[in-house]
Amino acid sequence: MTRMGRREFMKSGAALAAGVAVMKSTNAIGLTGTNAPRPTRLFEFHYADVELLDGPMLEQFRHNHSLFLNLDDDRLLKPFRQLAGQPAPGEDMGGWYSPSSEFDPPKNMTGYIPGHSFGQYLSGLARAYAVTGDKATQAKIQRLVRGFAPTVTTKFYQDYCIPAYTFDKTNCGLIDAHQFAGDPTALAVLNKATDAVLPWLPAKALNREQMMARPHKNISFTWDETYTLPENFYLAYQRGAGARYHALANRFLQDDTYFGPLSENQNVLPGQHAYSHVNALCSAMQSYLVDGSEKHLRAARNGFAFVIEQSFATGGWGPDESFRKPGTDELANTLESSHNSFETPCGAYGHFKIARYLMRVTGDSTYGDSMEAVLYNTILGARPIRPDGVSFYYADYNMDAKKVDYEQKWPCCSGTFPQLTADYGISSYLRSAAGINVNLFVPSRVTWQQGGARVSLTQQTEYPKVGETTLSLKMSKSERFTISLRVPAWAGQRTTITANGRPFQVDVQPGTWAKLDRTWNNGDRIEFSLDMPLRLVPLDAQHPSIVALVRGPVALFAVDPGAEKITKQQMLAAQRVGSSEDWELKTGTGKVIMRPYPSIKDERYRLYQKT
Ligand SMILES: [Zn+2]
Repeated sequence: MTRMGRREFMKSGAALAAGVAVMKSTNAIGLTGTNAPRPTRLFEFHYADVELLDGPMLEQFRHNHSLFLNLDDDRLLKPFRQLAGQPAPGEDMGGWYSPSSEFDPPKNMTGYIPGHSFGQYLSGLARAYAVTGDKATQAKIQRLVRGFAPTVTTKFYQDYCIPAYTFDKTNCGLIDAHQFAGDPTALAVLNKATDAVLPWLPAKALNREQMMARPHKNISFTWDETYTLPENFYLAYQRGAGARYHALANRFLQDDTYFGPLSENQNVLPGQHAYSHVNALCSAMQSYLVDGSEKHLRAARNGFAFVIEQSFATGGWGPDESFRKPGTDELANTLESSHNSFETPCGAYGHFKIARYLMRVTGDSTYGDSMEAVLYNTILGARPIRPDGVSFYYADYNMDAKKVDYEQKWPCCSGTFPQLTADYGISSYLRSAAGINVNLFVPSRVTWQQGGARVSLTQQTEYPKVGETTLSLKMSKSERFTISLRVPAWAGQRTTITANGRPFQVDVQPGTWAKLDRTWNNGDRIEFSLDMPLRLVPLDAQHPSIVALVRGPVALFAVDPGAEKITKQQMLAAQRVGSSEDWELKTGTGKVIMRPYPSIKDERYRLYQKT
């Protein structure tokens, strides 16, 4: 196979070819006129349809679910009660979450955004309830919404540095509590919360330059992210919160400085805050899905392609939380200057979300390639959130790197982490008119109605430690449909697919879906074996000699390499250490262990080798 540039393969096959059957989007709404909702090629399963089986993803999901389920209600509600002047029992959460007189940005970030991540914790719990059906989780959600409701006043946002930032998360939590946990009051509380925040919001979305030009009490008041609001406004509208949410969504689309230029393929990312601008692309996708705006679809596709173009070999992006200018040394310089290379939980959450939107709309499998890179090289290596709020935030790709926790408790990344892990299941499979698309190769089971048959498909795998995945079917009756397996763009020539022990006659083309169309029967078994050759991935086009060793989706980090110089030839000759996840290569003077990110604990490591 030819190795296409990352930019090219994101574009190839992404075009919406005419004449292909499309399915109605599940959230289609009855708008009339020229602005009509758009159908998608693939669509999401319900949370309950997918069950993760034993493995690191289930472990992360369970950890986050149980941590927030067991976090004291009074502590979670305390900042809202305090700022509303009500009795506020319970211990302070601390860090970013609790009001503090110490707050002195950017020097001291204690007390930065009181209650900022409450909505995300609520959202993570609501999605976890949708996955598990656990009644204690539903009861917790309803207690939190009931406890939050009487604190809602416009006074909360007085002297509050980033009102849109926090409100966007509150909105998300409440519409998820409504949608996924059946909370009967959540939309009414959202209406009150919206009334409370509106006086504090600008007339339109503002970028940082525009915020700087306005009077501000201190620098933190210029950091608000009004441009991320539309996605959840569109979702609130679609979930029945009312027509004003549709109008609000349109009002905050950042067309002038962001989506307009992006839709014309102008790269306006350099210098912008990374995670929030990736997250904002989801607003553009909602504008396409709800209002049929082709311009916003182009903006999201082009914007994401620009992100991929400046991604690290891990799939991570945005060192020091900002995008760099392509065609320069800027990205390379961060390997020396920064240890804050990728905002991992937030970045992975945003990446999964936009990649899922783009995959649904375009059907392009390579969005899944980027998701699994982020999964195996970033978030699965994140340290768990601790019950005291200590959280993992930045992955470090410095030439002398190590894993650390964030200095402040309960940061943004403690909010997105439980949302992301609750989304693991629905990120693994998508539905199509023809059947099912298997996007991620993870131990899991998906159950659905296919024509007249009840089908459940179970994946058993240790991927990406090995290339083999077994998929087995349980069916109430035989049925013809298509099982589409994502064949990653990096897949080697020895990739094979068999059904019930015989080779399946199907085109296995890297960077596409292998479409297994036949009449499937109860007990059928598919063996998918991915050939995962070692390869070298350069940092960017300007720096072909700065490379990372990658096998399949997995980047391999040199452990305690010291000043050891490693050549390309030595890297490609690496050998697996027994049956472990480690690889070993011989240098001129000794040996270096190469290790996947999730297996790294406290040892020093190096992602890129200067060859
Ligand atoms: Zn974060």
